[in-house]
Order: sequence, then C-alpha cells, then structure tokens
Amino acid sequence: MVSAEQTGLFIGGAWVTASGDARIDVVNPSTEALLGSIPEATPRDVDRAVLEAQNAFKDPGGWSTWTGAERAAVLRRLADALNRRGSETAEIVSRQNGMPIAVSSGLEAAFPALLLNMYADTIDEQPKTTRRPGLLGGQIDVVRKPMGVVAAIVPWNFPQTLAMSKVAPAIAAGNTVVLKPSPETVLDSIILAECIAEAGVPNGVINIVPGGREIGEYLVRHPGIKRVAFTGSTAAGRSIAETCGRLLRPVSLELGGKSATIILDDGDIANSIESFFGATLLNNGQTCFLGTRVLAPRRRYNEIVDTLAGLAQAATVGDAMDPATMIGPMVSARQRDRVEGYIQRGSADGATIVAGGSRPERAGWFVAPTIFADVNNSQELAQEEIFGPVLAVISYDDDDHAVAIANDSAYGLGGTVWSQDPIRARALAERIDTGTIGINGYTPDPAAPFGGVKASGIGREFGPEAIDDYTDLQTIYL
Ligand code: NAD
Repeated sequence: MVSAEQTGLFIGGAWVTASGDARIDVVNPSTEALLGSIPEATPRDVDRAVLEAQNAFKDPGGWSTWTGAERAAVLRRLADALNRRGSETAEIVSRQNGMPIAVSSGLEAAFPALLLNMYADTIDEQPKTTRRPGLLGGQIDVVRKPMGVVAAIVPWNFPQTLAMSKVAPAIAAGNTVVLKPSPETVLDSIILAECIAEAGVPNGVINIVPGGREIGEYLVRHPGIKRVAFTGSTAAGRSIAETCGRLLRPVSLELGGKSATIILDDGDIANSIESFFGATLLNNGQTCFLGTRVLAPRRRYNEIVDTLAGLAQAATVGDAMDPATMIGPMVSARQRDRVEGYIQRGSADGATIVAGGSRPERAGWFVAPTIFADVNNSQELAQEEIFGPVLAVISYDDDDHAVAIANDSAYGLGGTVWSQDPIRARALAERIDTGTIGINGYTPDPAAPFGGVKASGIGREFGPEAIDDYTDLQTIYL
C-alpha cells in the first residue's frame, strides 16, 4: 500500500526533497478519513522538473535520439510494471476519488498498460523518415521529430488513465514529460513513479509535480515547455488555451460534456440496463462523456421515466471499496454541494424529481442517484455539466427533433443512440455534433481517437493517431 509519509517528489528519476514545506492532504470521500499526504511542488520544483526533462530529451544519447524500437521496449516494461500493481492502483484510486472498486479494477488497473502497449506497437512500426517524390521533380524526405518537454495536466476522475493517455503517446514519440496530477488524487502517482523507476525508464523522461491550479498555470506558461496536454473543466481549458494562444504553444484540450442519450422509438434499454448505466452514470456520474440528457420519444416518455427511476432506486450506493457499490461518493464536499445546488435549482425550475434528490444519511459525500422528468432542454439541468449522478429526461416528437435537441448544446463529447435497428441508429449517430458516440452502449476504446467538439475541447487522444499530435514534421527537399 502507498505510504502516507511520502517525503519526496519524483523528479529526474529520483525522489528529491521538495523545496517547500506545504503538503497536499488526501481525504477518503467514502469515509471522510485522512488517507495520506504528499509534498506539494513549488515553482522551483517545476523549474527543476522541466530542466530534468529537457536534459533527458536532448543529452547526448537522450530519449529523443532513441529509435522507436528502443523506446517501445521501455514502454512495454513500464506496462508490465503497472500491470503487476494494477489492483493496488485500483484500490488507491477508489479510496481517493470514490470510484466504485468494480470500475477502477477494470479501468484504472488495466487501461494505462493497454495504452503503453498500443503506443509501443505503433512506434515500433513507424519509420522516422518517409521519402516521397515531389510534384515539381526531385525527392522529399518527411522526418518525424519529437517536440520537447510536454506538460500533462490531468483531473481526478480517472487519474491514471488520463495521465497515460498523454504520457504514453508523448514518450513513444520521443518527448519527455512533466505530469501534474490533481490534488484530489496525488497518491496513485506514487505507484506510477515506483513503476517508472522499476521499469528503467531513463531518468527525467517522466517527472511528476503534485499541485493545484497555480502550479498548473505555472507549468503551462513555463518557457521550457513545448506542448501542453490538458484534461479538465471547460473553464480551465479556456484559460490554458488563452495562455497557449499567446505563446503559440501547441495544446490539446479534453474538456467537459453534456452528452445526449437518444432512445429511439424502438430502443430497448430495459434489457440493456448494465450498458445503459455505464453510458449514463459510470463513476458516480463523474465522467466527462456520460449521456446525462436522456431524450425519450413522447409516446414512450412515461415508460422510460419509470425504467430510469427504477434503475436509480435499485443502484447500490455505498463505500467505493465495496464490490457491490454501483454509486460511490462525490470526490469532495465541494463537489457534493455543487451537485446538490443543481438538484435544488432544477426542482425550483419546475422539473420533477422521480428518484433520488436527497443526501443519503451516512458519513461521506454521497448524493443519491437522481432522475429528473419534465425537463426542457433550455434549462440549466440540461445545459450545464453537473458531474454527479443526475439524469435529465427530455421528451421529443420525432427523429429530427431528437437530433435538434441533442445538438442544441454548448458541448459535443459523447452520447449514445438506442435502437433495435442498428442501421437506423448508425445513420442518426452521424448527425450528432459530437466527437464520439455509441450505438446501444458506449465503450471508449483506446484503439480509436477520443475527444470533443465545441466546448468539449480541441484535439483527440487515444488511437495510433495521437502520436502525430506529439510529433513535429520536418520536410527536407532533396
Ligand atoms: P479542473 O479543470 O478543475 O482541474 C483539472 C486539472 O487542471 C487539475 O489538475 C487542476 O489542478 C488543473 N488546473 C485547474 N485550473 C488550471 C489552470 N488554469 N491552469 C492549469 N491547470 C489547471 O477539473 P476537475 O474538476 O479536476 O475535473 C473535472 C472536469 O474534467 C470535468 O469538467 C470533466 O468533464 C473534465 N474531464 C474531461 C475529460 C475528457 O476527456 N474530455 C475526461 C475527464 C474529465
């Protein structure tokens, strides 16, 4: 188990003493008990981490000069090390952010290694240089080059998966990384650091600076950073994009969502309740891609509302470490209060609570899974990302109307279409303005690009394509 007495920061391949005295305390949201703490990085520590990453990048024989096959071998060793400690990672993630252990055991325990192995395969096969004939005569070489030091900033909801969705393609492409985890989930980064050391990742290729927003801002504008990869809220993403715009610094942004779950008139959710739950309420509703606006055909509206109310009432709410738990706590008291604020205002706005709406009586920051009926798509409940177990059911008249409502959103990240006719569902899916969408379920598979449009972000992660976003192309006319 991760030590609560961690004294160092993982910089340059070693545990170094933090330059300040401040520590980040992590509290278990299921019990409100203190879990442990870790030193908080200061700007001086960030300077040191960026310098180590620069040196690791360019030193004679540095990471950027390694062949793809050499780097791939290191990525695979890191994947093996993470796999060996997968259950420990799942446990510490669930204890920190309230993710049900059944979810973290499948995702946080396994996804990071899956990503590393996929990018190892990609880089192993990718030629550094491709030669092509010019249209004006002569030959041209197009050379793939790493960019330099990447700043990776991640939120707390899937801390290891979201970290590795940046770190893996970045290092596969030959970059080095300074990773800033979220203060709510800094303890899992200790396991990551230990695995990095165990796998023999060269010193300074991956450095970790725990801290909050200010350290994140400092890292984003640091002169040694060549590219920024961010996952988090749309508000923070806008601010980071402004900084990167001014600096002309490449940036990718994976931001919030308010996706639509479109149940067509022949959609059968009653027999797919597990997939439906995963697409709408996964991780206590604290997942960016969830389809939290449920669009139901008018003539089946009452039936669908009843099914969802039954789903919410049957969902086991409890300690994240209990394997039976389907809905764990919100990550923090602040987040719980925020979710409750949306529920109160939704009710005051005239929407009807048909399940939940209350605070379970127990320690921890729980919100009962809540279903709102009679929601209008223009209401706050339907337009803003709540990031809790709250679904808003909206009625529609026909398929065109459903598409119009789905697209009437500032966001465009995920969503699903439910129908017994996969061809009809597939055709409708393409009409939705969103980066990803699922038919009769939603599984964000790392084999293909994932990301959002509109206020959900810029750029894509996952898929072999992501390596291109961490690569500069140099054209040499021969
Ligand atoms: P957040 O934006 O508050 O914080 C995310 C991370 O950024 C944290 O590490 C934080 O310390 C840091 N940060 C905050 N402001 C910053 C700034 N101005 N400059 C640099 N760093 C800054 O988000 P959160 O509450 O931790 O996470 C929840 C949000 O993340 C939700 O909106 C959710 O939808 C989004 N999210 C998106 C995806 C996706 O892939 N699109 C995935 C998961 C979560």
